[in-house]
Amino acid sequence: MWRKEPEIIIQYGRLIDPFLIFYCQNYPNANKFGWDKWIPPTREQIDEKIALFKEEWRKYNMAKKISACLDMSFNRNVIDVYVVSGITRECSHPLIMKSGLNPKEFVVALAHELIHRILTINKIPRVVYDEKESDTTNNHVIVYAVLKKILDEELWNIAITSRSKHPSKEYARALELSEQIGPDKVIEKMITGRV
Ligand SMILES: [Zn+2]
Repeated sequence: MWRKEPEIIIQYGRLIDPFLIFYCQNYPNANKFGWDKWIPPTREQIDEKIALFKEEWRKYNMAKKISACLDMSFNRNVIDVYVVSGITRECSHPLIMKSGLNPKEFVVALAHELIHRILTINKIPRVVYDEKESDTTNNHVIVYAVLKKILDEELWNIAITSRSKHPSKEYARALELSEQIGPDKVIEKMITGRV
């Protein structure tokens, strides 16, 4: 089915950046995760990074792939993506990404957030894949299923290799569940609400 794809506008989050820099350096666990010693990039460095992000993002047609994979539309002409110096976790509403990623990591992380976004836009109810698992885990089973379907091998390897020094057990479990159930079944259950 033909769908108009949203224009993904990747830009510097000028107004929110000062708040996020302060937060990163001062939030209660900042020293635990090394943010207290983090030095924010200069504006020139961020602009260079944004140019690289745009160039890499352009290569993949990700919004279209996500749409086709889930058979859903974004129903938006434009989706704004704000790149900031740093953020302790990616955020899908609004879409905020940190400048510290490399361009391919950025593509994977943005695809991840857009999967959350398209499900929210389409008011898809939460699907519980394993009731013993947390909400975070259950919410990410579908993310990994779609990523598996749309990413090439290189990007998929980035998606499943945690670059974080503190990998999330919940994400790892979501990946495991997605692989166990199988990406097609995961997606089918998300769309139909049934197994
Ligand atoms: Zn997520």
